[in-house]
Amino acid sequence: MARIPTLLEAKRTLSFEFFPPKTPGAHMTLGRTVAALETLHPDFVSITYGAGGSDRHRTGDVVEWMRLETPWVPMPHLTCRGHTRADVAGLLGTYQQIGIENILALGGDPPADGQAEAGDYQFALQLLEDVVASGHFATGVAAHPEVHPRSPDRATDRRHLAAKLAIADFALTQFFFEVEHWVRLVDELADLGIDKPVLPGVMPITNKAQVKRMADMSGAALPGWLADRLDATDDPDEVRRIGIDVASQLCADLIDEGTPGLHLYALNRPDSVLAICDILGLAET
Ligand code: FAD
Repeated sequence: MARIPTLLEAKRTLSFEFFPPKTPGAHMTLGRTVAALETLHPDFVSITYGAGGSDRHRTGDVVEWMRLETPWVPMPHLTCRGHTRADVAGLLGTYQQIGIENILALGGDPPADGQAEAGDYQFALQLLEDVVASGHFATGVAAHPEVHPRSPDRATDRRHLAAKLAIADFALTQFFFEVEHWVRLVDELADLGIDKPVLPGVMPITNKAQVKRMADMSGAALPGWLADRLDATDDPDEVRRIGIDVASQLCADLIDEGTPGLHLYALNRPDSVLAICDILGLAET
C-alpha cells in the first residue's frame, strides 16, 4: 500500500473516483469498469460516502474489495455530520485493520428536510483532527475552487480551508470547468501560507441533466460557452464527446499550470476516463 503524500512527492499522480454501487447489476458494472481501467495503473482511487452515512457499509465493502482484490490503493471518503466519535473510531479501526492508509475527511451536508441531526461533529476540521490523532492515516480534505455554497464569502471559505490544510496532507477539489479557478485557489492558499498539494477533481460530463444538477448542488458554475455547447445537442453520444473534449482540455491546462495530480470522476464507467487518458498520452502502450 502507499500513503498519498509520499506518492505526490515522487510524481504527478493519476487517480479515479468511484461511488459504491447499490444493486447487483451496478456491482457488475463497477467490476467491469475496474477491469477496463487496470492498464492505466492509477496511483490511488477514492470511494465516495453516502450523505449522512447512509452508504457507510457500502463504501467500506467497496474499499475492502479493492484493497484485497485489486492492486489499487483505495481511499475512503468519510463525512462526519450525523456521526458520533464512537462511530468514527469504529470505522477507522476497521480501515486500519484492512490496511487502509489514506482517508478523505469531509463535512457532509445537513439533511435536506431541515431536520436536526444527532452526532458529535459539525465541520470537517473536527473529523480531520480525530483522524490525524488516530495516528494511522494520511489525510485529504475537500476544497471548493468556486467557494463552498454555505460559505458567507470567499475569504471565510479560504480561511476555513487553510485551517484544514494546516494539518491535512493534501486537498481534493470539487469539480470545475476552467483552469483559472484552480490557479486562483492555489494562489489564495499560498497567500495564507499554505503550499500543500491541491489535487483538481475533473468530471467528464456524460449527461446534461446530471451535470446541471450537480453544478447547482456543489456551487460549481457551468460556464456560458459550455452550456451553449451542451444546449446545441440532444444526442447523448455527442454530449459524452463534448465531456471528453472539455475534460481533456482542462487536464492539459492543469498540467501546463503544474498540477500535482489529476483526479478523474469515473462515475463507475470506464469510457470517458480511457478516452481522456488516451488523448493526454497517459494510457500505457
Ligand atoms: P467543511 O470543511 O466542514 O465546510 C463546510 C462549510 O462550513 C464551508 O462553507 C466552510 O467554510 C464552513 N466552515 C468550516 N468550518 C467552519 C467553522 N469553524 N465555522 C463556521 N463555518 C465553517 N459528500 C458526501 O456526502 N460524500 C462524499 O463522498 C463526498 N465527497 C466529496 C469529495 C470532494 C472532493 C468534495 C469537494 C466534496 C465531497 N462531498 C461529499 C461533499 C461535501 O461533503 C460537501 O460539500 C459539504 O457540504 C462540505 O464538505 P467539507 O468537507 O468542505 O466541509
